[in-house]
Parts: sequence; structure tokens; C-alpha cells
Amino acid sequence: MTLSRCAPIVLFLLSYLPTIPAQTSILGFTPASAARETAVETKFKSIPTPDQERRQHRIFTAEPHIAGSKRNNELAEYIRDEWKKQGLEDIIIRRYDVYGTNPKSASLEMIAPMHYQAVLREAPLDADPDSKNPAISGAWLGMSISGEITAPVVYAHSGNPEDYDLLRKNGITVKGKIVLVRYSNPYSYRGFKALTAQREGAAAILIYSDPAEDGYKKGKVDPDGPWGPEYKIQRGAITYDFMVPGDPLTPGWASVPGAKRIPIDQAMSAPKIMALPLSWHDAKPLLENMDGPLAPDSWQGGLPIPYHLGGERVKVHLKIEMENGTQPYYVVEGRIRGAKLPDEWIVLGNHRDAWVFGGVDPSSGTASMMELTRALGQLTKQGMRPRRTIIVCSWDGEEVGLTGSTEWGEQFASELRAKAVAYINVDEATSGPNFHGQAVASLAPMLVETSRSLQDPSGKSLYEAWKATVAREKEEGKQSGQMNDSGVANETLADTRIGSGSDHTVFLNFVGMPVIGLQFDGDYGVYHSAYDDFYWMNHFGDPGYRYHTLMSQLWGVTALRLANADLLPFDFASYAANIRQFVDELAAKNKTVILSGVAGSRSEAATESKDLVSSLDLAGVLKAIDTFEAAGKRLNESLTHTLTGPIDPKVALTLNHGMMQVERNWLNPDGIPGRPWFKHILYGARFTYAHLELPGLTEAVEAQDWPTAKQQAEILQRALENNTKLLDELRSHLTN
Ligand SMILES: [Zn+2]
Repeated sequence: MTLSRCAPIVLFLLSYLPTIPAQTSILGFTPASAARETAVETKFKSIPTPDQERRQHRIFTAEPHIAGSKRNNELAEYIRDEWKKQGLEDIIIRRYDVYGTNPKSASLEMIAPMHYQAVLREAPLDADPDSKNPAISGAWLGMSISGEITAPVVYAHSGNPEDYDLLRKNGITVKGKIVLVRYSNPYSYRGFKALTAQREGAAAILIYSDPAEDGYKKGKVDPDGPWGPEYKIQRGAITYDFMVPGDPLTPGWASVPGAKRIPIDQAMSAPKIMALPLSWHDAKPLLENMDGPLAPDSWQGGLPIPYHLGGERVKVHLKIEMENGTQPYYVVEGRIRGAKLPDEWIVLGNHRDAWVFGGVDPSSGTASMMELTRALGQLTKQGMRPRRTIIVCSWDGEEVGLTGSTEWGEQFASELRAKAVAYINVDEATSGPNFHGQAVASLAPMLVETSRSLQDPSGKSLYEAWKATVAREKEEGKQSGQMNDSGVANETLADTRIGSGSDHTVFLNFVGMPVIGLQFDGDYGVYHSAYDDFYWMNHFGDPGYRYHTLMSQLWGVTALRLANADLLPFDFASYAANIRQFVDELAAKNKTVILSGVAGSRSEAATESKDLVSSLDLAGVLKAIDTFEAAGKRLNESLTHTLTGPIDPKVALTLNHGMMQVERNWLNPDGIPGRPWFKHILYGARFTYAHLELPGLTEAVEAQDWPTAKQQAEILQRALENNTKLLDELRSHLTN
């Protein structure tokens, strides 16, 4: 049971309010500015209310609103109109004509050894009126191709490459067959499963939700609990956006009118396989009729049947008709113009499109955004306009391929590189009470500091609640052997390992902006299904809308600190320490990477290696990290001293613009090898969406491609040296 459902306990704790100590100093602020900022934040935090969060959430979850649909476009107009009333400025709806995806029809029929017609729809729940809405789509996966085939079915576990190796060992090929795989827990992007099946020569892929992962094996199912019921279908796109996100026809440039478009058969991110999601209700008849060897223990699932590898006996007829083609997506953009520094931007964003109602994903975030903008508008009307400009965007087509944010980011890339301080993403605001804050390492300290000034519904500060969540998760990780220390230091609170899978991607990996991601989560088994709706949120996710409210407060306060700081609260010493950790981990995982001159780290395998060429020495990189860290520490000290008194605005401008440049300097214009769109050399994502640190270097090491690895190490070393020079140059503007 989660705390959010213990209403009496929470009410009891709330009677001890307030427990947040007043903050006397704030990173990046002089004492006088910090006092002003505290007053602004106190006012800001008093505006969002649970009732308004709930009201907004109901509006966004009233009807299905997939990207490109009439309803989703009406919601774009609704946001525009609300923002006007709230007092946002320069509101504009931007249109991108992109390659979109829509289902037309799908059928799946088992024709041997017996007949079974798959339902491919979600059963309505009596307790949940929205689940009876006739506009709910059936089973479909975005960017599947159309087709029709009759073929045997093979069970391929999670559909990862090693799963096909095991099938091969058992003499089972999937060429021309249909693979049945399950959504795996931990999460791995379904597009990677589709690409893997395509590479293996499968004719189609069926991806089902096993009750072991998010159904009855986890606990009570909807409508009695938060987990997925028998007919739950996890929709989703299979776009290969890990190669290049956004419109597949405009890789690297915006889909504005008149833009050049490549043919779909040349589009790297467009799948070339039929794909369909299944509920476990529809997967069970296939699984229980399969022949072939018994699947290994780790492949057995939550259904009360033995899982076999299959391959011959079960034959199905699958037909999928899609309507994929160019259609308009709409990004809504609004802003509060900065009073002093209108050309320095803090960008905030949340996607609007949902697979169905989007109770958690994304409408919890959209509701929080609407309350955030209402509060920002009120502050401005009361004369508390931020110093820098705050831009807020409602993205479209995130679910299809991070499409709206990618097109917008590509369109304004050069302006963003000149003006943007940071991007703060909220996708799913709330599926439970556990806070997860993500940030590039230079912003991690300011995010941790910000969490101290917010009140968690549990009665603790958000900071204390966050610490408790991280400690608990570390403890759980320890049990499964992933963690070896249980202390939660402030430096390890924020997650600084940033993969893909949401709208921050273009800003971090293409534009080179520092990013922050905010989310509360909990037990959530209805992801991307029709059951992710208003009922679910009101019974399980956030019944009192208190975490929605807290998200509006947190998101807004974080934005206000970046918008109002005298000197931007970047901590580059912290960045250096993180990069060193990334390098150490790379060396620990790959014995061919040596860190010469570092006691005890020269690995046996490398020194014993007969072929001296097949190793990589990162001593130069480590030295560059040390000097970057020293420069970061020196700058921190100078900035702290400078912030004790008033600051010359010209000096502040030079410093702030210089500090904004640091993140851009992590970009390699050529991108990471094989994926030129992804330009950041510290952060990337694997094809599974999982975070991938030092992506170019790591992938080269893993492939034992030593010339490329050496080249990537040199690129990293040069970037570190450039940023060291930049920090020292900035410090020279300060007198202390
Ligand atoms: Zn989402």
C-alpha cells in the first residue's frame, strides 16, 4: 500500500504543518535576491490547489486524445485559450506536418491446433464509466507496417538478442515466423524488440503483457488495485527513434512547410515489421498450445501454464491495416517574458498526446503544467515577473517518436544554443508518491537544494521524502546485488544518468542544453492502456491530487530559481566528479580499458593481453577530468564570494553566458558513431532507451573497435580541456 492511500495518517501529519525551515541562502543568489526569491516562491507555492489540478486532469482525460486526433488538436486550442486567460504571452500554436501513424484494423486468429479469435480490445470495468467509451481504440502499435500473414508462432521471451541465441541453441529459427514476446520488467523499449525481431527475419512480432510483470502477480488489479487486469493492452510506438527521433522523413531538420523530406523506405527510424500488442487474455491460448522444448525457468511467466518455445504447432493468421502518412501535429508555445533578461530562456515542457485517456501518461503532467502556468500568470499580474523568460510548451506526438519536441528543438536549435539556460521536462507527473528527480550533474545540487523548500504530502520536506525513497530503492537494489552501499549522500540523490524515452531528448542530445526531469511514481500496471484514466488516478495514483499540486510547485520553483538567479546555479565540480565516475565504471566493466597511473586500476586482463593494440588507456582523459574539476572548484569558490555582495550586471552577463556554453561544448557536431543526430558525448541512450554514459566511447569499447575508441576518447579529452579553459577564463572576470 502506498502512503497516498493512507488518508487518515496523512491528515494527522498535515496537522503538524509547516515543517519546512526557511531557506536563508539559495545557490546562485545574493542574500538580498534570496530574500526576494523566497517571497516570490512562497507566493507561487500558495497558488496551485488539488481541486484545480483535479479539474484540469478531468478535462484532459475526458476523451481519448492520440496524436493527430481531433480531440488532441482541440486540447491544443484549449491550452492556448487557458494560457491567454492565465496571462501567458506570445502564445502560438506551431504546426509540423510529420509522418504519423494510425490504426485502421487488426485481427489475429489461431488456426492450429485449434481455433481462437483474439479479442484485441479491453473489457469495460463496471466501476469505471470511462472504460465504456466507444472511442477507445483496439490493440495497435504505432508505426507497425500493414500486412497479412499466416505463420507458426515462436515464444521469444523478452525479444532481446540473447533470447534469439537461446532459441538457436534449441534449433529454433524465427525466419518468416511470428514471434511472441513479453513486455519485460525492467522496462525495455518495445521498438528495440521490434528491430531485433526484424533483424532476425521474423515476419511479425506480438508483444503481450505478462501478469508477472504488471498484472495480478504484482497485486490487486484494476478496478480493485493499481495493476493491469486480464484484458489490459499496452499500446505504444515501435519507432526506431533511438537511431533518430522526430519525424522519420526529416531526420535532423524541422518538418516546417516546404522542408525537404526523404522517402519513407530510406527513413532509418521507420520499422519494417508488422507488430501488435496483446493482453494476457489473448496471449494465453497461444502459449498454452505451443510445442517445442520447455522454456527455461527465467522465461516462465505469471500464467499458470508451462511456457514452451513453440515453433511449429501453433499457427496464426495475422492481419494489420495501418494508415501511416503525413499529418499535422501541433505544439503549443507560451511564455512569460523576462523582466531583465528576456533573451535568456528557461524552457518547460510536457506532452499532450496520450495512447488513450492518458490518466498518468501524460495528463497528470498536463494538469500540473496548467496549474503551474496559472500560478506564473498570477505572479506576473502581481508584479513578480521573472528576470529571465520562461517558455512553456505542450508537445504533440511524443508517444509516436518524441516528434513534436524534436521538430521544435530542431527548428529553434541555433536560437536555443544562444539563449537557453535549461529545459525542465515533466512527462508523467504522478503515478504514486515516490519522487524521482533527474538532472545533468551540473544542476543536480540546485535540484536537491530546491527539494528542501517543498512540502511533501507525507509531512516531511520533499528532500527528506526523496532521501527515503532513494534509500529504500538502494536497499531493494542491494538485495538483488546491484548496489553495494546504502548511504544516501546528497550527491547521489538526483539521478544523473539520463537515457531517452521522453521530450528532453532533443534538448540534451541535439541542442546541448542542460536538462532536468521530474516525476512521482508508484505501483502502476495500466501504462499505455485504456485503464490509465481518471478513475485509476482517483483511486490509486493520486486520489487527493496532492502530488499533482506538489509537482506544479516543484516544477515552478525550479524554473523560478533558474529564471531569477543572479549567477546561474551550475556546479561544474559536481559535473567533473560524475564524468570521472562514468569513466571508472567503463573501466570496471571492460577489462580492456586501462587507467594507467591510477593505483590498482590497471586490470590484469589488459596487462596480460598479448595484443597490446586491443586496449585503451584513458589516463589522459582522467587527467583532463582532474583539471576540469579543479577549475570547477575554483570557479565555485569565486562565485560564492562574488554572491556575498551586489554584482556588476555586465560581469553577471558574461559569467552566465559562459556557463551556458559549457553544456554546448559537450556536443560533437559529428554525433556519436553511427547515430549522427545524437551529439552529446557524455549522455546517450541504448536502443532499449536505457541510459548510456559516454555513448560514443562506450559503444566503441564494447565493440572492441580500438581506433574509434581512441578517437572518441580524444574528443572527450578535448571537450574537457575546452571547458577547463572556459571556466578559468570566466573566473578571470571576477576580482577574487
Ligand atoms: Zn509520456
